[in-house]
Order: sequence, then structure tokens, then C-alpha cells
Amino acid sequence: MKKGINNMRLENKIAIVTGAGSGIGSAIARLFAKEGSTVILADIDQEGGTRISDEINTSQGKALFINTDVSLLKDLENLVAIVIERYRHIDILCNNAGFGVSGTVITTAEKEFDKIMLINVKGLFFLSKYVLNHMLLRKKGSIVNIASVAGIVGLKERAAYCTSKGAVVALTRAMALDHVRDGIRINCICPGTIDTPWVQKRLAESNDPITTKQQLIDRQPMGRLGLPDEIAHAALYLASDDASFVTGSALIIDGGLTAG
Ligand code: NAD
Repeated sequence: MKKGINNMRLENKIAIVTGAGSGIGSAIARLFAKEGSTVILADIDQEGGTRISDEINTSQGKALFINTDVSLLKDLENLVAIVIERYRHIDILCNNAGFGVSGTVITTAEKEFDKIMLINVKGLFFLSKYVLNHMLLRKKGSIVNIASVAGIVGLKERAAYCTSKGAVVALTRAMALDHVRDGIRINCICPGTIDTPWVQKRLAESNDPITTKQQLIDRQPMGRLGLPDEIAHAALYLASDDASFVTGSALIIDGGLTAG
């Protein structure tokens, strides 16, 4: 639909992407920049965030890294204050930063549960609040939350993670309705297993990485892991005017995992 003179979908947009120093977030940051957006990379990982931001700037994109821990409200307020002071407004927020541990309700410790909920839910809730306050002044904006298939179906040994991602799907729908007449669209993406450093780390820590990888592949009917770029293209669609009639949706991208 609406594209700029260079056929870029996000020309002159200002986008914040959390967790942009690795995996899915870095793919989203790169693609948003390629499509003309200035990208603010918010991550707790100084090295990864700076590396991706430098890479975007040297390939003629526009990026800024801001060291941010999404579990700290003062960091979120600081992030939004810097972006507003520098760029005056925010067009797109992609809440991607996330954390997960394995465990059932029986084996998950309170500390792990609290950490998952702080990062995956509370951080996303309050960053959305601070950004929405500015989007509401202009009556436009798009928020894309990275949830998971764990928010749609139950996954074994992921009790706290499923709890948090179910909350992200529910919050996406609630926010979308609250702001449906404000010119602001809010959607989420539910990826299946995607080949990122997070998954590689999980495999490396398992007793039998080859078998564990095969199990992850086997539960996705397409017979492979997804790629970060396959999620980034969905985020681009939802963030852009191409999705002008889409709000409150949970876009599942999982190679068929939840189809059966
Ligand atoms: P990743 O570990 O490769 O990247 C996550 C990034 O988030 C890292 O750069 C990390 O530093 C950052 N981060 C973690 N805690 C943070 C905090 N407190 N503040 C700021 N940044 C923080 O992981 P990924 O696989 O790219 O996952 C990205 C998102 O996608 C997560 O929300 C995850 O739940 C979701 N997801 C991933 C998969 C998958 O299979 N990889 C599947 C479904 C959903």
C-alpha cells in the first residue's frame, strides 16, 4: 500500500526495538532500517546492541543504541525521554526483549517466575504505556509485541514462559481495543521455534544437543526451525501501513506447529 518515493515501507519513521542486540530483534532492527526507519535499539547487551547499531549505520541506515534493561521502569522512562528529546515522536514500538527458563509449576522457583514476568510482561506493559502517551498526542502509531506459540498452546516444561506469553497475547488484544479509535494499532506475533542465539544456547546446554534439536524440528510440520528474518518480515508488515486494518491480532508464524 503506502510506500515512500524510494518504495520503502517505513520511510522517515522512528522505531524502538527492544532486545535488538541479538536474534529476532536484530533481524527486525536491520529490516526496519533497510525500509527507511530510524531504529533505536534498546538492549541490556551493550556489545550486541552497539554491534548491530554500528552495522546499520555503516550500511547507510540510521540507528542508535540505548542501553536499557526493560525490567527497570527508570530505564524505560529514560529510553522514551531520550528518543522524544532527539526525534520528537515515536511511530513504532516493537516489544521483543524476552527471557525464558524451563520448568513445570512444581520445579519453577519464585525468583525465575518473577524474572520472566518482569521482563516479558511488566517491561512490555510499561514501555507500551510510556510510548502510548506520546503516540496519543499525534493519534498515530503501531505497536508490535513478540509473543510466542507458548501464548497460544501449552508447551511441556515451560510453565512460567507460557504464562508470560499468554499474558502478552491477552494484553495485546486489550490495548488494541482501548486504542482502536486513537489511530494506534497494536498486534503481536507468535513465533514457533526460531534459530537464534537463545535456541542455540538452549541446545548447547542440553544433555544431547543433536536429539534435542531434532525434537524441536519434528514438532514443526515444515520440518525445520524458523529464521529470524521470517519473523522480521511479519513485524514489518504489522508495523507498516500495509496492515492498516489489522489490530488486536496474534499472527502465528510456526511452520505449522499449532495447526494440528
Ligand atoms: P535472543 O536471546 O537471541 O535475543 C534476546 C535479546 O533480548 C538479547 O539481545 C538480550 O540481551 C535481550 N534482553 C534480554 N533481557 C533483556 C532485558 N531485561 N532488557 C533488555 N533487553 C533484554 O532471543 P530471541 O530468540 O531472538 O528472542 C526474542 C523474542 O522472541 C523473545 O521475546 C522470545 O520470547 C521470543 N520468541 C523466541 C522464539 C525462538 O524460538 N527463538 C520463539 C518464540 C518467541
